[in-house]
Amino acid sequence: MWIALSLIVWSAAPAFAAAPVTRDLPPGLQIPDAARPGPEFDVDRATQAYLDLLSPEQRQLSDSYFEGGYRLQLWSLLYGLGVAVVLLRSGLSRRMRDIARGRTQSKWLQAFIYGFLWLIAGFVLDLPLTVYSDFVREHQYGLATQDFGAWFWDQLKGLFVGFVVAPLAIAILYAAVRRAGARWWIWASGLAFLFSLFTIVLSPVFVEPLFNDYKPLREGEMRQAILSLARANQIPTNNVVEFDASKQTTRISANVAGFAGTTRVALNDNLIEKTSLPEIKAVMGHEMGHYVLNHGLRFTIYITLLVAFGFWFVHRVLDWALARWGARLGLEDRADPAALPLAVAILALFFFFATPLLNSIIRQGEAEADAFGLNAAREPHGFAMAAMRLSTYRKIHPGPLEEIIFYDHPSGYARVHGAMQWFKENQDNATAKSAEAR
Ligand SMILES: [Zn+2]
Repeated sequence: MWIALSLIVWSAAPAFAAAPVTRDLPPGLQIPDAARPGPEFDVDRATQAYLDLLSPEQRQLSDSYFEGGYRLQLWSLLYGLGVAVVLLRSGLSRRMRDIARGRTQSKWLQAFIYGFLWLIAGFVLDLPLTVYSDFVREHQYGLATQDFGAWFWDQLKGLFVGFVVAPLAIAILYAAVRRAGARWWIWASGLAFLFSLFTIVLSPVFVEPLFNDYKPLREGEMRQAILSLARANQIPTNNVVEFDASKQTTRISANVAGFAGTTRVALNDNLIEKTSLPEIKAVMGHEMGHYVLNHGLRFTIYITLLVAFGFWFVHRVLDWALARWGARLGLEDRADPAALPLAVAILALFFFFATPLLNSIIRQGEAEADAFGLNAAREPHGFAMAAMRLSTYRKIHPGPLEEIIFYDHPSGYARVHGAMQWFKENQDNATAKSAEAR
């Protein structure tokens, strides 16, 4: 039934996609007059001039997409809680546990089998929301490029990766719950940390190539500029690659993935095709900042601390909830895998309210990478222009509280303003000056 529903939602998608959408800023670096160097240069005026590159329609579209995302976070939480209720009240979760018990005496394997079945049930029950949020809505706003078949195949690949990772993680987690008693949440947090590091190291090697084609950067002036930037910042140049994101999305982006020996800086082909060299250098300066400042490890440590709080919260609330409803739902105790949907629902509730904190932890690291990138690439106009382009999927100028709660990157306004401030303080810098000539 869920799949049928998904197909109905999907068949409505082309109607949205047909609507004319003015999305991207035109290719190439455009430096507004008010942002050119001179005695009259003013940071606020230059910032406003960049913001004015967006037409009112473009800005409205971007605001509407991003603000819709706020509501979607709330709907996702409610939907997830609904899925947990379905799994628990229908007895499906209990039945999956009983199937596992019927197959083996080993508690390890029981948790493993339950984890496998839970993953499939979750995938199917979540599908209508996933189709809406990741397919229909993305097409509605002109951000997606895949047809339904290709998109769904990517979802299945994600599920297969889940099969390799999740049942094992769940089996280890339940072993910790059985052994450590009331202190399980401390053990679970330690395991989560090791597991994240392990996943981060392996992901660029085994997971990302399943979805996209990664290859060395194409030859040319851009490659030379990026490799020069990498050498200047002590990054091994064979760790800079490009990938074909255009087969999924119109978004420009770049990222740093991996850890230890597998770390690499990657830029997507949209960035290469749609932007100018100064913008690419500015974006790569930012990504190299993540690499040099070792953000992968630092984010993992900070987020593990938050996860530890989350597990502690689950511990307290789960025991209370099991005492209250456990018998009625046929759940035994915290070591019963059938109670997993309840534990996951409690964790989802925790992370919903912890989102502003999580966003702020990441946003602060992103601001560091911005500062690093401005100094490394010395392309303030390239950086400002790239920040403007990100308005295709991020509201450009939020209120201060809105930015703290919802933004995991500095807003476009903050980034353009920072770049113009850098430009003001570095007007004698040769690279910055040459912006005048471009
Ligand atoms: Zn970043």
